[in-house]
Amino acid sequence: MNKRMTIQRQIVLDTVKALDHPAANSVYEEVRMKYPHISLGTVYRNLTSLCDDRELLRLTFPNSPDRFDPNLHPHYHLLCRRCGGVSDVDMAYLSEIDRAASEKTGLSIEGHMVCFFGICGQCRDGPDAAVQ
Ligand SMILES: [Zn+2]
Ligand SMILES: [Zn+2]
Repeated sequence: MNKRMTIQRQIVLDTVKALDHPAANSVYEEVRMKYPHISLGTVYRNLTSLCDDRELLRLTFPNSPDRFDPNLHPHYHLLCRRCGGVSDVDMAYLSEIDRAASEKTGLSIEGHMVCFFGICGQCRDGPDAAVQ
């Protein structure tokens, strides 16, 4: 396959890097401010192909849209149940549980994903924290 970097693809990638774990919709809103003619379909298509080519990680959460992450190293996330924001959790990746799962199942485990649920720092300390 021809791995040419189209301008649109580069714009989508740069936008994901500039935002913090954005959903496709936020990428689209951001890109559209500079390039009003770009379509949501184009943004989706480029996000998918960037994930297929392992330039971006697709993060899947229950009851929440997929997010995109340029950090390809295995790491953990917190999904804030108040604002829906996704942030990195700064803790060591537990590769020993991959080995344990591999030993238990005999399968070749490639990795695992963990999503913590809770309230992010901004929601906890923000001006609206008392509301709700
Ligand atoms: Zn929050
Ligand atoms: Zn991340």
